[in-house]
Amino acid sequence: MTYVEKGEKMANIVLQLDVTMQQKISDAYTANRVERQAPGVLFAAKLDDTAITSYASGKVMFQGSGAEREAAKWGQALAKKSSVSKGDTLPENFAQLSVIGSDETGTGDYFGPITVAAVYVPQHKIELVRELGVKDSKQLTDDYMRQIAPDLMNSLHYSLLILRNEKYNDLQQKGYSQGKMKGMLHNQALYKLLQKIAPEEPQYILIDQFAERSVYYNYLKGSKNIVQRNVLFSTKAENLHVAVAAASIIARYAFLTEMDKLSKQVGMSLQKGASNKVDIMAAQIMRKFGEDTLKNITKWHFANTDKAKKIV
Ligand code: MN
Repeated sequence: MTYVEKGEKMANIVLQLDVTMQQKISDAYTANRVERQAPGVLFAAKLDDTAITSYASGKVMFQGSGAEREAAKWGQALAKKSSVSKGDTLPENFAQLSVIGSDETGTGDYFGPITVAAVYVPQHKIELVRELGVKDSKQLTDDYMRQIAPDLMNSLHYSLLILRNEKYNDLQQKGYSQGKMKGMLHNQALYKLLQKIAPEEPQYILIDQFAERSVYYNYLKGSKNIVQRNVLFSTKAENLHVAVAAASIIARYAFLTEMDKLSKQVGMSLQKGASNKVDIMAAQIMRKFGEDTLKNITKWHFANTDKAKKIV
């Protein structure tokens, strides 16, 4: 049994666990142990952002802004039943297994490519990845990701795909939905990475879910080398295994690097997202360099194109 109550910032997550798991938790947080003399309390610990309380009833409560992250290390049902993540029920202790994670970025940005990364984090590197700074998705600002991505790329096997605007627009005009493009990119990244690490294999593959499993595999109809073995899907998967967190950082880093290049090309720092600011910037670029240049650096079918044309 797992349930989640979400307040403004504070999450309050309760897991129902067996004695062995409760023992593992008290071992893991020994250094942060605090005394709490409430009835039924077996063990209590306090981290900077999370209070953990383990009860004789088998309930373990995680409170605070880090509750999701900490609970995800122990709670198998979290992925299924909570409002935190949606998707497959993950195996027990999932966060400690050897996993390939994949994630994409740039899909909602008018300027720049879509990037997809798949990253392999074997069990013995999980701690290293944390030490390199992959901790809490809340602290992952663009600047922070720029800092730590190169270290991750040097320490881990990964596969990175960049779908640049020309190709994106081409596929889009051929009738490919963005979902289908994403599906194909994820699959290709996973396939390439599996080849890189062979004969070693991950215990699981976790895709940060952008589509239900059936929809995802529907996107892949007609594709070659469809990766299906041990593939799991969950939303907010970056909180469930560091491999997905690392993938999201590497994908973001690649996106930012591409944006830097495109910004240089047009002599202005390109705005992310798809807001009015983007329309105005697109109009400036269209005036200065013409429509073709703008098309080559944007996802042309976005509504921003028409808005920019109107401004011009
Ligand atoms: Mn994602």
